[in-house]
Amino acid sequence: MQQLLDGVHKFRREEFGRYRELFQRLSREGQNPHTLFITCADSRVLAELITQSKPGDLFVVKNVGNIVPPADTTGSTNSTAAAIEFAIEILGVSDLVVCGHSQCGAMNALLRGTPGDSVMPHLRAWLEVAAPVREVVERDYRDITDPLARATVAAEENVLFALENLHTYPVVAKRLAAGELRLHGWFFKIATAKLHAYDPTQKQFVEIV
Ligand code: ZN
Repeated sequence: MQQLLDGVHKFRREEFGRYRELFQRLSREGQNPHTLFITCADSRVLAELITQSKPGDLFVVKNVGNIVPPADTTGSTNSTAAAIEFAIEILGVSDLVVCGHSQCGAMNALLRGTPGDSVMPHLRAWLEVAAPVREVVERDYRDITDPLARATVAAEENVLFALENLHTYPVVAKRLAAGELRLHGWFFKIATAKLHAYDPTQKQFVEIV
């Protein structure tokens, strides 16, 4: 906690000055972010840092494994859906990024099969939303046996799964049909901090240069 409090003081002392006017304007005019950025809760993936975004730029949703459930998923497993509807319909973002990452603990857990015990029922239910990703990895990537490489393909497939599921949201489908929204699949490699974007033509993730 001391580290957090030190950070609060450091922000007020050293950083706030150059953001003062921006925060005041955003307070007056409200937020108008251009992008809904869905990524993993992992502490190593910092949307604003890796895109050098300012306050007011990104509407960020972080969840375990950057999973986007299909629109018909109900109950406690779909708070992400609420954020999608809000960002698309109310804020009117023009771009939506789903950003997976390397060394994702959620993807590792998904591939291992979620534990059958009852200690973490919410985590179990949440990861099971992405069960189709595990099936794709088991079906199409049998030749990949290295756990790290398997987690990487799972994370990439999970981004594609998310993009596919986004189409099931009426608010997304409507804006896509009107040409008012673009979807992007990204992948962040932690060790190099490099971002890759999915290229539908090449059917692979290509480094953003
Ligand atoms: Zn993760």
